[in-house]
Amino acid sequence: MIIDNCLISSLYIHVPYCRAKCDYCAFYSVPGSCIETRRPYIARLTEELTSGATQCAPLESIFVGGGTPSLLSIDEWHKLGDAIHSHYQLSSGYEWTMEANPESLTPELVECWASLGVNRISLGIQAFQPELRSIIGRRGDLDRLREIITAIRQNGIRRLNLDLIFNIPGQTLAQWHDTLMQALSYAPTHISAYALTLEEGTRLAKKLPPLDDEDFLAFWNETDKLLATANIHRYEISNFSLPGEQCKHNNVIWHGGTYLGCGPAAASFDGSLRWTNLPSIDQWLAHQPPEKDLLPPDERAAEILALGFRTLAGWEWNEFTVVTGFDALALRGTALKKLENMGLVRLTDHGATPTPKGVLFNDNLAMELI
Ligand code: SF4
Repeated sequence: MIIDNCLISSLYIHVPYCRAKCDYCAFYSVPGSCIETRRPYIARLTEELTSGATQCAPLESIFVGGGTPSLLSIDEWHKLGDAIHSHYQLSSGYEWTMEANPESLTPELVECWASLGVNRISLGIQAFQPELRSIIGRRGDLDRLREIITAIRQNGIRRLNLDLIFNIPGQTLAQWHDTLMQALSYAPTHISAYALTLEEGTRLAKKLPPLDDEDFLAFWNETDKLLATANIHRYEISNFSLPGEQCKHNNVIWHGGTYLGCGPAAASFDGSLRWTNLPSIDQWLAHQPPEKDLLPPDERAAEILALGFRTLAGWEWNEFTVVTGFDALALRGTALKKLENMGLVRLTDHGATPTPKGVLFNDNLAMELI
């Protein structure tokens, strides 16, 4: 499936287990698991990591997401770490992120991850207020958060992301302000602030009427304003970082880079073809083939063009040509001019960036390009 000698330098691993299903969650995950039920998953994942390594150059980034990667045991992580280190090289300056929930992460697991080479942890907080956590069906509490963050730092892991959610029904601007202030008190290097969306099929979408967007802009602006006081700035629709602390792995994806996905529901991209493992542990265990997303090269390039405008950096046209083989202006010049007239994109001599309005209304921008 790999095109010519194109080698992939980013690896994604999906851990499809959670303690319970949050009401807003649209990711592929199954509630409840134990070492016994996870045994075939670990074996199959090891096999997939082993065979996938032939497609990869030394890795610039690894991202382990889910689900809840911190639900796996220390022993399971040693096995997976061995598989990674036996079959992949890590380039100097690599980034290795683990997603975790504060209620299942322990100081011992943090120590294990650090020993494997993990250098970035992303903690799912969502909201600090128990009443808001209850509205979105987020189980567990944050009682051990400070202990966990202390362990992260004591083990030399400096890079810390906190995931937060705003636009929760009933949430006030004061509560959002308080959530951001509490998050900043842990000195994160990165914050992801997602607007709650009621994804079709989730429990929350079934129990709540559609969200009122009226307050959305106030939450959006408050986020920029408050995080800037800590020198943490928006660099993508929902992502903010200290200078130099952007998520390398996600930047690869937003800028048309290649990645290999292992585990159920994990997606891969080789620069031309995208394929996604089936979102079913049983089908993935049974080696059912992934779903292929076939697009003509010009449509794939247009999709990558739109994806890059999620980031405030937008595109340098040289970079776009190297990544896709297309000249952006020849490909979508008319649409880009229209977007400039709509105030969504700023064209320069060498590329284009989204305007603040273009970041806010990214869906409209993407629709014009795709
Ligand atoms: S912990 Fe994360 S992946 Fe698991 S159900 Fe909740 S939102 Fe989904």
